[in-house]
Amino acid sequence: MMKETFPQLCNHNHRHPVQGIIPPYMRLHLISDEENKMKIRQAHLGDFSLDEEIRARRQAYAKLNSAEKLLLASQQFKAGGISKSILQTIAADPGLLPQPSRLVYSAENGQSLPGKIIRKEGSKPSKDTDADKVYDSAGATWDLYYSVFGRNSIDNKGMMMIQTVHYLKNYDNAFWDGKQMIYGDGDGKIFASFTSDIDITGHELTHGVVQYECNLEYKDQSGALNESLADVFGIMVKQKALNQDVTAANWLIGENVVIGEQYAIRSLKAPGTAYVNHPDLGTDPQPHHMSGYKNDPDDNGGVHLNSGIPSHAFYLAAVDVGGFAWEKLGKVWYNAMCNRDLVPTNATFADFKNATLTESTALFGAEDKVTASIRNAWNTVGV
Ligand SMILES: [Zn+2]
Repeated sequence: MMKETFPQLCNHNHRHPVQGIIPPYMRLHLISDEENKMKIRQAHLGDFSLDEEIRARRQAYAKLNSAEKLLLASQQFKAGGISKSILQTIAADPGLLPQPSRLVYSAENGQSLPGKIIRKEGSKPSKDTDADKVYDSAGATWDLYYSVFGRNSIDNKGMMMIQTVHYLKNYDNAFWDGKQMIYGDGDGKIFASFTSDIDITGHELTHGVVQYECNLEYKDQSGALNESLADVFGIMVKQKALNQDVTAANWLIGENVVIGEQYAIRSLKAPGTAYVNHPDLGTDPQPHHMSGYKNDPDDNGGVHLNSGIPSHAFYLAAVDVGGFAWEKLGKVWYNAMCNRDLVPTNATFADFKNATLTESTALFGAEDKVTASIRNAWNTVGV
C-alpha cells in the first residue's frame, strides 16, 4: 500500500470528527422548538447533515499521506486563484519563519473550499470585515502560541493558517476541519457571524494544535478535554489581545456570536450560565463539577457539555494564582497538552490533572503556590 511507504502527517487511525464551536445540544434545542421558526430550524437541520459531510471529508483527509495532502492543497489553491509563489512557499519547509503565515478566503456563501483569496500574509486590509477580523484573530492566536509558549503555528513548523469566511448562507457554526478554519455568517437572528469573537478563532486553531500534540480522541473524557483545551487557549488568546488579567476578564466564549448582551456560548467562570432562559436556546447545560458529569450520546459522550469541568478547574487555579492567565497557568496547561506520555489520546480528566501537577512541579516546584492552586482547583471540581 502507498499509504505505508510515505511518512504520515497523521499516523493514527481513529476518527477525526469535526470540531465545531456550536454543540449539538444547542442545535437540538432549536430543532425541538415547536414555535414558528421553521426557517431557522430548516437551516439547522441542514447544518446537521452538513456536519456529517465535513466529518467524512475530515476522516478522508486524515488518511492521506503528506505527499497526497500537498497535492490536494495545490489543487485547491489553484482553484482559489492563488499565485505559484505562494504555492512554492507552502511546498518549502516554512519552519524557519518565526512569523505568522495567514491566508483568508471567501466561500462567497457557497461550499467550495478554500474559495476565493481575500487576503494573504502582509497584505493590506480587504473590504471584507469578516476576512479582516479572522486575519487579526489568527494573528493574535499565533502570537500567544509563539511569544508565550515558543510554538511556531499549529504544527510548530510554521504551518499556514488557512481560513475561509462566508461559508454557505446563514450557516450557524465555525469549524476546524483538520486542515483549515471555516466560518459561517450566522442566521442573523440567534447567531451573528462566527468571525465575531477572537476566542472562537483561538478555540478552533487550538483543535489544530491538539491534533499535532496529545491528539485527544474526540469522545467521552478525552473529547471533553479536547474541547476544554480549545476553550482555555481560546480565552487566553482573547485575554492577551485585550491585555486583561484574570479579574478583568469575563471568561466568556462566543459572547458576540450569540446575539443578545446577556448571552454567550460557554462560561469558564460559571459553566451553566453562558445563556439562561434564552427564548430559542434554553439554558446552558454545562456542569462545573464531576457530580454533574453527563453522557450525551448526541455530543460524542458530552464533549461540549463536560468540558465545563476541566475548564472551570483552569479558571479557579488562574484566579487563585492571579495576574495574567497565560503567564503561569497557561504555561503549565501548554506543557501538559504537549506531554504525550502523561496525556495519551484517550486521557481522562484525572490523567490531565496529573500532567498539570507534574508540569507545574517542573516549572515552579512542588511546594509553590501555582502547584497548590492547581491541586485545589481540580479537587474543587471533583477530579
Ligand atoms: Zn471545539
